[in-house]
Amino acid sequence: MDFQFTPEQEQFRQELRGFIVSEVPRELREDPTLGENMADRAFSKRLGQKGWIGLAWPPEYGGAGMGPIDRLVYNEEIILNKAPVDYHLIAERQMGPSIIAFGSDEQKAFFLPRIAGGELGISIGYSEPEAGSDLASLQTSAVADGDDYVINGTKIWNNANVMDYIWLAARTDPDVPKHKGISAFLVDLKTPGITINPIEDLLGDPEMCEVIFDNVRIPKTAMVGEPGQGWYIVAANLDFERSGIERIGRNYMLLMDTIQFCQETLQNGRPLFEDQLVRNRLMERLTEFEVGRLMCYKIAWLQSQGQPTTREAAISKVFGTEASQRMARTCMDVLGMYGQLRPDSRWAKLRGRCEQSYLFGFSLTIAGGTSEVQRNIIAQRGLGLPRR
Ligand SMILES: Cc1cc2nc3c(=O)[nH]c(=O)nc-3n(C[C@H](O)[C@H](O)[C@H](O)COP(=O)(O)OP(=O)(O)OC[C@H]3O[C@@H](n4cnc5c(N)ncnc54)[C@H](O)[C@@H]3O)c2cc1C
Repeated sequence: MDFQFTPEQEQFRQELRGFIVSEVPRELREDPTLGENMADRAFSKRLGQKGWIGLAWPPEYGGAGMGPIDRLVYNEEIILNKAPVDYHLIAERQMGPSIIAFGSDEQKAFFLPRIAGGELGISIGYSEPEAGSDLASLQTSAVADGDDYVINGTKIWNNANVMDYIWLAARTDPDVPKHKGISAFLVDLKTPGITINPIEDLLGDPEMCEVIFDNVRIPKTAMVGEPGQGWYIVAANLDFERSGIERIGRNYMLLMDTIQFCQETLQNGRPLFEDQLVRNRLMERLTEFEVGRLMCYKIAWLQSQGQPTTREAAISKVFGTEASQRMARTCMDVLGMYGQLRPDSRWAKLRGRCEQSYLFGFSLTIAGGTSEVQRNIIAQRGLGLPRR
């Protein structure tokens, strides 16, 4: 087992870190009032100009032809330093690899260079008001009509308000078993008939959306892959969504800053860090972070070997999200009553980030597939238990 990165990868890490630090001031990266959804088109474009989006894609599609381990280095720096990458993150992480694997030549030529350039963002259109965990029950329909499909239905809990396209799972055949009647599409969000309604989240930010499709006409060429192949494409896509350092790394900066806060803050005349309980709790969280990080390393290695990662992605997602929740809870406990103050309070410590991360943390074990659903996947794929 070799846990060392190559000198080139370490050099790349330093270059990337320097770029993030110089391009986006720390106060902005940790600004809690920006919300958790940091879609900054200008920053994505600058990152694209450096050639760092789509690192692992073949050069003919706008990538750098590097491997999953190089991308892991990139992702660690981007996520742990809280760079504002949400505009292109989903498109790069999930849609790009899916377009490479299943897309037509025209789709590859149009989407991949734009994603790699940081100039095109894609929202995920899977969940519906009546279909979340049981995604195969989705009702949004795509009915063939001449050279077009006509879409009707509602997608929910996405970030379509800050994106250009939506990656849509829709039912093209209602007469076959439900998993087999689904197809995937790339739909321009400016197409007539689409209405986007923001929904306020727990933090009070209108970051989630409901997208209504009312007789939306799209060309048949918007389909990714074959009719009825959607379920398979979505499953492959979700492995990418669940496997990165995004989950375990979400509250890393907050944890590090809380540790520093405990070193600098006196309680009853002594640094907070001398309290044994505080020390133990913070070090438990740091240990969990390192374990979660190693899980991500293993997945990147499996990807570099071309091996399946469904089981590992589910394990990493459950562990990473639940550990991130524990991180926010520990920071909240350590800060005491100050931790509960919102960013606009003059008494807030660490700019009120603890309260924001704590509240946002509730969604981590829901988004991208709930912990219960991940545990079912692990039971089936990891332990060979029967499907429930
Ligand atoms: C912050 C956030 C961002 C999101 N972003 C997107 C996005 O970009 N695009 C998108 O399409 N969706 C998105 N979602 C939606 C997310 O994928 C769904 O909320 C999630 O899959 C759960 O579906 P549901 O909300 O319908 O809950 P349900 O499926 O109704 O589940 C309700 C409860 O029942 C449990 N449950 C359900 N089935 C089982 C089972 N078989 N075994 C055990 N327990 C079960 C669940 O674990 C959960 O606790 C996002 C959600 C959040 C919170």
